[in-house]
Amino acid sequence: MDLNIKVNEKNHLDIGGADAVDIAEEFGTPTYVIDENRIRDNYNRFYSAFSKYYPDFKVFYACKANTNLAVMKILESEGCCIDAVSPGEVYTAKKLGFDGQRILFTGNNITNEELKFVHEEGAVLNIDSVSALNRLAKIIDPEGVKISFRVNPMVGAGHHDHCITGGVMSKFGIMDSEASEVYQQAKDLGFNPVGMHSHIGSGILDPEPFKLAIESTMDIAGKVHQDVGIDFEFVDFGGGVGIPYTPEEKIVDLDKFAEVNIGLFKEKLEEFDMGSPTMYLEPGRFLVGDASVLLVTVNSVKQSYRKFIGVDAGFHTLLRPAMYDSYHHIVDASKMDAPNTQEVDIAGNVCESGDLFARDRPMPDVEEGDVLGIMNAGAYGFTMSSNYNSRPLASEILVTDGKCQIVRERQSFEDLYAQQIIPDHLK
Ligand SMILES: *Cc1c(COP(=O)(O)O)cnc(C)c1O
Repeated sequence: MDLNIKVNEKNHLDIGGADAVDIAEEFGTPTYVIDENRIRDNYNRFYSAFSKYYPDFKVFYACKANTNLAVMKILESEGCCIDAVSPGEVYTAKKLGFDGQRILFTGNNITNEELKFVHEEGAVLNIDSVSALNRLAKIIDPEGVKISFRVNPMVGAGHHDHCITGGVMSKFGIMDSEASEVYQQAKDLGFNPVGMHSHIGSGILDPEPFKLAIESTMDIAGKVHQDVGIDFEFVDFGGGVGIPYTPEEKIVDLDKFAEVNIGLFKEKLEEFDMGSPTMYLEPGRFLVGDASVLLVTVNSVKQSYRKFIGVDAGFHTLLRPAMYDSYHHIVDASKMDAPNTQEVDIAGNVCESGDLFARDRPMPDVEEGDVLGIMNAGAYGFTMSSNYNSRPLASEILVTDGKCQIVRERQSFEDLYAQQIIPDHLK
């Protein structure tokens, strides 16, 4: 199986050289445990796979997947850049030492104030609509400002409808048919449009949609190059490379993936005589998804009409199963060698029937007090968590060569209402 699961000599789950049961005991649960070396390794495998075939290549980490400061710092130290989707992400990246040139801002439905802020922080704006272009031209001096456009390559793919970001139903990007006109308009306004971007979706294991997206984006870029005379400094094909979540899914063969897609990219560069722009990719999930485990503790085992394993986390902690019907592999970290003996539902502590981490999941004889590892929780895990049901946000632990450090304190009850103000007449 291609899932990143390791077991130590005590038959406990091993996370980056640390014992998951010991971590749960020392720091409490629920807690996200992040394996630093796995992130470094994911980045280096990704970077070298593509740069081998096309050295002028840059990785922009789509940080909405996981904005933990330590995670972003780890990637910063590897030389990675940032794809930000909100002013808050730009702000965070700047604070961590990414300079503006290393930040690409791919927002959508952005206000004037936000456009201005992002521009002033020095990030390169990846414009999503003619509306944003015209508004930007009014609020800043456009003369010579480098920008890029997100185009809709009319190809979409993803693990769930919510995650498909190309095609006629998608709210993202400018239309392929209007691209030349929009780039001309940008030039006329004084901007220096130097980039083109597309992002077709998320959680994609099948190489086919990427090939289509590269071809289609390059056809649009080639046409803009010929019609408007834009010499592209970069072309950005977004993120979306998936990771295996189920034992049956296979890890993407990165070398093959890079070889095929860069082959197509180069063919199109030649076809349209476009020189050699830098190639950008924006992986989020791929870099961090399999580097974290959410540890939870079993607090009740209940035989009702079905058998429920109740744990001390819920969809406020990890939303993906409830939101996308996503599969997360779940192991009994306390007894990794125990064979599966039953099929159970693994339920959270939120007062909603939909609060389930798994249905009919084969599991061993799970007992109260066991620590479960919800695997592959590093992407769209903590970042999508909430205080629903007045549950404090989980803590986060970083494991570096077997050594554990808290990188986010568990919230307290005080934190739950820290920003609220009771009006005087209600006191
Ligand atoms: C979310 C997002 C990504 C990353 O997607 P993954 O599936 O996590 O790789 C990349 N680019 C943009 C613009 C995004 O919105």
